[in-house]
Amino acid sequence: MHIKPKKSLGQNFLADKNILSKMVSACAISGDDIVLEIGAGMGDLTQMLAQRAKEVYALEIDRRVFGALKQRLSAYPNCRLLEGDILKFDIARFARERSYNRKIKVIGNIPYYISTPIIEHLIRYRTVIDTVFMTVQKEFARRVVASAGSKEYGSLSCFVRYYAEGRIIFEIKKGSFKPSPKVDSCFLSLKFREIPAVDVFGEGPLFELIRAAFNQRRKTLRNALKSYLDGALLENFLKDKGIDRNVRAERLTLVEFADICNYMAARGALRKHLTVTKNK
Ligand code: SAH
Repeated sequence: MHIKPKKSLGQNFLADKNILSKMVSACAISGDDIVLEIGAGMGDLTQMLAQRAKEVYALEIDRRVFGALKQRLSAYPNCRLLEGDILKFDIARFARERSYNRKIKVIGNIPYYISTPIIEHLIRYRTVIDTVFMTVQKEFARRVVASAGSKEYGSLSCFVRYYAEGRIIFEIKKGSFKPSPKVDSCFLSLKFREIPAVDVFGEGPLFELIRAAFNQRRKTLRNALKSYLDGALLENFLKDKGIDRNVRAERLTLVEFADICNYMAARGALRKHLTVTKNK
């Protein structure tokens, strides 16, 4: 059965069997694993996952592929097809209803234009997820795993690092997909941390500060944060820490951003439009 791929749904199917095998081995799936697959498509990856995992739940938004998909997966009693949009899918409820005593793995060759919303969504459910494995645009993957000092480093890198350890497992050339996208990809993993990477007064203020700092990344940190923080206090902070007073955001580590946030909070100097939401 032939289904015309929909660009609007990011339908670039993985056609290369070697890549599919490499992906599946990288996920190190055991017979105890519960897998949630995002975007099953024609089920090539789903089948391979079902051969290894205890249970596979294949989420797919496009009703057109359902018939063919159901048929292909009928040989796997441990595999269930779910209809829906990952961005509206309540993963905590899903896990609760099945009362698993272990965290699930989330795996997917996902539409690239919703990479960020998908990551944000999965982060919300991090307490029930062990690791996420996903194909993303190569440049996006580099931004996720970038460290301070590199040109790809930015608020996305900090945001993800706070909750997870990100790793690029391997690159995938555009020719491995059908139809080929315009860009190369990476298989990326995000292993959620038990506790966030840094101890901070409030996540809200931290991310707001980081976004503000990178919004004007060519400016010095002092200038970029002028309307957010007391400039004299920031200057004191930099001096105390032995950091160049003309430093730019791209040089600061997540730990240093958290230090700024905590330093300001301790002095009651986070400007009021930084919505102070204390960590629970
Ligand atoms: N896993 C398959 C298909 C990848 S293409 C393979 O590797 O070949 C991406 C798939 O994600 C498509 O089948 C598309 O319909 C589905 N998809 C797109 N947006 C989605 C969403 N919001 N929620 C769930 N699935 C989605």
